[in-house]
Amino acid sequence: MRVVFLGTTGYHPNDRRHTLAVLLPEVGVLLDAGTGLFRLPRYLQTSQLDILLSHAHLDHVVGLTYLLGMVHRRPLEAIRVHAQEAKLQAIEEHLFSELLFPVRPPLTMCPLPPAELPLPQGGTARWFPLEHPGGAVGYRLRWPQGELAYVTDTTATPEAPYLEAIRGVELLIHECYFPDHEAELARRTGHSHTSAVARLAAEAEVGQLVLVHMDPGSEAEDPIDLNRARRIFPATTLAHDELELSLGSG
Ligand SMILES: [Zn+2]
Ligand SMILES: [Zn+2]
Repeated sequence: MRVVFLGTTGYHPNDRRHTLAVLLPEVGVLLDAGTGLFRLPRYLQTSQLDILLSHAHLDHVVGLTYLLGMVHRRPLEAIRVHAQEAKLQAIEEHLFSELLFPVRPPLTMCPLPPAELPLPQGGTARWFPLEHPGGAVGYRLRWPQGELAYVTDTTATPEAPYLEAIRGVELLIHECYFPDHEAELARRTGHSHTSAVARLAAEAEVGQLVLVHMDPGSEAEDPIDLNRARRIFPATTLAHDELELSLGSG
């Protein structure tokens, strides 16, 4: 089962990266809808799309507006947007205000159910709350082929309240906005720094850790000191745009 990183940074795009969007092309599931969403048509293999939003900050939702042009060129049977109800309302009221964007794309807004969210091809998603200004949610997604967790935006600690929710997943995709010397800034802004994310991954006994949502203000190829993370949790990768991974048997 393929995982394709359409966009990997937070806040705003830079010359290397677009903002977050992670696609499971074979099942038609997209995690967040940042500017990287413009790459969706290159990879999507299904006629339906389920978009799971962590929250409604602009770097995670602006790509929803790009869907209008995409479905004009290649109609989809359904596009469902899953998020907490208040976030969906904010998107309807603000992002799809005629003053900001002329025509609402054909989306179905689906507030997250209290328990499990069923997904195509026998998949399920469980969500859990994350501490972040305005609130966010993380997801644990499971298919017979493999299991992953997606956690952004929040402040990682080895005792994070969502530790049990991510325990033992094969792949943990986690935000890492700041390097260690900006740990205090990470705490103040509701983001994570390198060592804390690596320690959390070790504590949760995940198979591998992929870091996303780095500070786009740093144009360095490695803005968060990957080697420091690897000394704590060796199976760590720094995501780059259009990185592809394989989950489970393939
Ligand atoms: Zn963000
Ligand atoms: Zn945010």
